[in-house]
Amino acid sequence: MEHRADIAVIGGGFGGALMAMVARQQGHSVVLIEKGAHPRFAIGESSTPLANLFLQQIAEKFNLPQLLPFRRWGEWQKKFPEIGCGLKRGFSFFHHESGQPFSDKPERSKQLLVAASPRDELADTHWFREDFDQHFVSEAQSLGVEYFDRTELIDFHEISDHVLLIGKKGGEKINFRVDFVVDASGPRGCLFRLLGLSERNLPLMPATSGLFAHFNNVDSWDSEEGVPYPVEDAAVHHVFDGGWVWVLKFNNGITSAGVAATQEKVKSLRLSEGAVGWDLLLNHLPTLAEQFRGADIQNDFVFVRELSFGLDEVVGNRWAILPPAAGFIDPLLSTGFALTLQGIIRLAELLPLPSKDDLLLYQRQTLNELDQVSHLVGALYSNMDDFEIFTALTQLYFVAVSFAETANRLGKPDLANSYLLCEHPDFGQSTREICELAVHSNNRETILRKISKAIEPFNISGLADPSRRNWYPVVLDDLFCSAAKLQSTDSEIREMLLREGML
Ligand SMILES: Cc1cc2nc3c(=O)[nH]c(=O)nc-3n(C[C@H](O)[C@H](O)[C@H](O)COP(=O)(O)OP(=O)(O)OC[C@H]3O[C@@H](n4cnc5c(N)ncnc54)[C@H](O)[C@@H]3O)c2cc1C
Repeated sequence: MEHRADIAVIGGGFGGALMAMVARQQGHSVVLIEKGAHPRFAIGESSTPLANLFLQQIAEKFNLPQLLPFRRWGEWQKKFPEIGCGLKRGFSFFHHESGQPFSDKPERSKQLLVAASPRDELADTHWFREDFDQHFVSEAQSLGVEYFDRTELIDFHEISDHVLLIGKKGGEKINFRVDFVVDASGPRGCLFRLLGLSERNLPLMPATSGLFAHFNNVDSWDSEEGVPYPVEDAAVHHVFDGGWVWVLKFNNGITSAGVAATQEKVKSLRLSEGAVGWDLLLNHLPTLAEQFRGADIQNDFVFVRELSFGLDEVVGNRWAILPPAAGFIDPLLSTGFALTLQGIIRLAELLPLPSKDDLLLYQRQTLNELDQVSHLVGALYSNMDDFEIFTALTQLYFVAVSFAETANRLGKPDLANSYLLCEHPDFGQSTREICELAVHSNNRETILRKISKAIEPFNISGLADPSRRNWYPVVLDDLFCSAAKLQSTDSEIREMLLREGML
């Protein structure tokens, strides 16, 4: 069997399905090739305001209005209540001492709550990938994308004016003759293997492993009075020296939970042994153990020995690799979806046959952004035992993403056209220098002072204000006070907030 198409997308996760939809909407014929079959378990679930903005931009730019409800909790619940989803009002962090129940002081120095939305209706979401990805693939098919599941690609040949992909489906040989290939097959995926691409070092990032699963009957983590949002309606991070645990609750009773940790912790907690490791981890974090006391695991634990990886080549004459297949750092700070969706927007604009210069620009942006995440997450790992520095470092993330989101919503994308402002001449460079310092020096005062100086010109949400004692609700006045930083007037801010349903 031979199939001819303009574009082949490899990998039928939401990223591949979306890439295929976007290419189809531009009038190209598209084959989408998946080695497994839906529905299937997939990890990577928590969205962010910037990721949802990119999803909205894709929907608007490529005439895919059917995707718009997925940008917000409220619309999603009205339109697609049957697709599993979690409510994410913000990012919650709790710092634990090994073997001690979680406790905090009046100054709240052991927690950090950063709201991302003022109310549930506008909130971000956790995507229950089993349902979500299947829905996206069905949408792609209904637009005319030809979908091949249970298809294993075994060879890639670039032949003058096309690419020949050779695969197997149900024991039969299957060929795809296409003009251009987009690889959305995830970490260490298809083209990494077929083209023998090499991995590169990720700046400041230690080697880490992950252990995770889905659970039923996970108890609640109580919210204190006056919190900016119920602390569990969020991506919940439990941080300890050498690692952190995520807990994400879905509206179908399922909770996603897992741990990412350095090799030292992986060894001492025996994480590679699955359930044994999970139990040891919970012994180490007694308050979390309480929460999981009656929990049942839904499937087997998944252990990933090397979580982070990066390629040094992500484009060729007739192929390009989407960010999640080009590199992955860590689930910390939920950077994956935003990078995936931004990569789709960038590549979509170049199809059907990108020029060499455009591909090289895409490669530079993709690698720089991954490196920036690697700097920041690497610095965070180095400071998981020092929550004051950890918290200050996270502000480099929160300030950059909230600035970028707001600049985009104001119609001023040029103010922030690289992820984490990594290509911004001041902020990008300062962030990297601070992260180096946070890994290699223990001069805490200098690190804190430099962070404060770096974030000030971009801080539009009152972040890092000591009087807020680590609780940051959405305060619209902060935005009005920072209008000049966004090169905007009060009335531009007001109009944007009205447009977004925030006022
Ligand atoms: C532990 C962990 C937690 C994460 N948490 C978050 C988070 O909270 N928030 C966030 O934003 N990001 C997170 N990420 C990143 C996130 O998972 C990715 O950004 C996201 O999954 C990308 O989606 P995708 O559809 O492009 O790729 P994937 O979800 O990786 O899907 C790839 C698809 O390709 C298929 N495939 C693989 N190889 C082949 C092949 N050879 N041929 C054909 N098909 C193939 C697979 O079967 C799969 O269906 C996390 C990642 C990890 C590892």
